[in-house]
Amino acid sequence: MLENDIDRLGDGLLDHEVALLGRAADFVRREIRPQAARWEADRRPPKELFSAAADAGLAGAILPVEAGGAGIGMLAASRLAETLARADFGFTFALKVHANAANAIARRGRPDQQDRFLPDMLAGHRIGAFCLTEPEAGSDATAIACRASAAPGGDWRVDGAKAWVTNGIVAGVMGVYVQTDAAAGWRGIANLIVEGDTAGVRRGPAYDMLGGHAAGLCDVTFQDCLVPADNMLIVPGEGFKAAMAGINMARMFVAAICSGMIAECLDRAVEYGAGRMAFGQPILANQGLQWELAEVATDLEATRRLTEHAARALDAGRPAIAECAHAKKFATRAALRGISTCMQAMGARGLKADEPFARHFAAAKMCAFLDGTTEIQNIVIARSLLRPHGLEAS
Ligand SMILES: Cc1cc2nc3c(=O)[nH]c(=O)nc-3n(C[C@H](O)[C@H](O)[C@H](O)COP(=O)(O)OP(=O)(O)OC[C@H]3O[C@@H](n4cnc5c(N)ncnc54)[C@H](O)[C@@H]3O)c2cc1C
Repeated sequence: MLENDIDRLGDGLLDHEVALLGRAADFVRREIRPQAARWEADRRPPKELFSAAADAGLAGAILPVEAGGAGIGMLAASRLAETLARADFGFTFALKVHANAANAIARRGRPDQQDRFLPDMLAGHRIGAFCLTEPEAGSDATAIACRASAAPGGDWRVDGAKAWVTNGIVAGVMGVYVQTDAAAGWRGIANLIVEGDTAGVRRGPAYDMLGGHAAGLCDVTFQDCLVPADNMLIVPGEGFKAAMAGINMARMFVAAICSGMIAECLDRAVEYGAGRMAFGQPILANQGLQWELAEVATDLEATRRLTEHAARALDAGRPAIAECAHAKKFATRAALRGISTCMQAMGARGLKADEPFARHFAAAKMCAFLDGTTEIQNIVIARSLLRPHGLEAS
């Protein structure tokens, strides 16, 4: 149970980071657990909850203190993601994308951009989004075609479509990757801050998916959309590298989210199995079932270790590209396998919507795609193996 796990989660963290995890556990108990099944059934993102999360200090904790955040490290942020994800993938991922969007402005933005956007974002009044994927460009982000062309006065005219935008339904501040010079390839990619109420921005309808509906995913299109020159966050030449660095960090968070979902399902399966009787004894008295769940526990332990290894490498200022890829690849597989095993141990009870299994199982499958598919992680890992030998991964 989460309440009994706070000591482990706080291991290696600073006092203010441990205090934040305590507030997160409380937020899970009060706000996420009671509502998560309803968000899924209603297929609606809980926009109103961003302000409450902000009040609890959960919306921008990774931002530097001078930008209004709590300055927590990657290890603490991974434990925060694990804590929240026990109750719901969709809202946890939405909050993570929001925090990352604010963090990009805090770390890369000019002071005037920080003043314009961060106060509202940190209060949870305006929600952030990361717009890279397009209908025709997923794994190969160099192929994005959303165009930004020069408009009078130094402004930018944006035309194109983005797909799979987390928070797209509710976002007020979108970090949009645009191509400024198709002939330059990845070197032409830049990042513009596009405000949600800009003329020419269209969004929706919300995706109807396997799960994760609290993440508010949809397409966002831009038609003849005028964006002020002042909204250039990352200049051409730097945009693609920045997107890849952001995705790398996000992979570590996806692994942490998987840990939270596996832990929640394992705890519940053990609790239920200890009390559920069959053939005159608790079902967990059967060694076959004990060993199945022991396998899940080992995978959970390994997932946590790989996540921590990646988080510590990022905290040490290393790129941690292979570390994050290993963690994400292993975690998503462990989550799919482990949640399915826990669900099996529940019998038919595990199928019901008031249990976490179906939502978390769907989310585990979604995690195998977002921030780079499992196959892309293998390319990244193969690259790290081949590079010392002067070879390229194919
Ligand atoms: C829940 C969710 C949230 C998301 N949120 C966001 C978001 O906020 N912002 C955003 O920009 N995007 C977001 N995405 C999109 C996500 O990043 C893409 O789904 C991902 O990059 C894969 O792209 P694709 O789905 O178009 O697959 P494709 O690129 O079309 O790939 C299809 C299949 O081919 C495989 N494949 C592709 N290339 C190779 C290769 N070279 N070798 C071997 N196999 C290959 C892939 O692994 C995959 O199995 C989200 C996705 C999901 C599911």
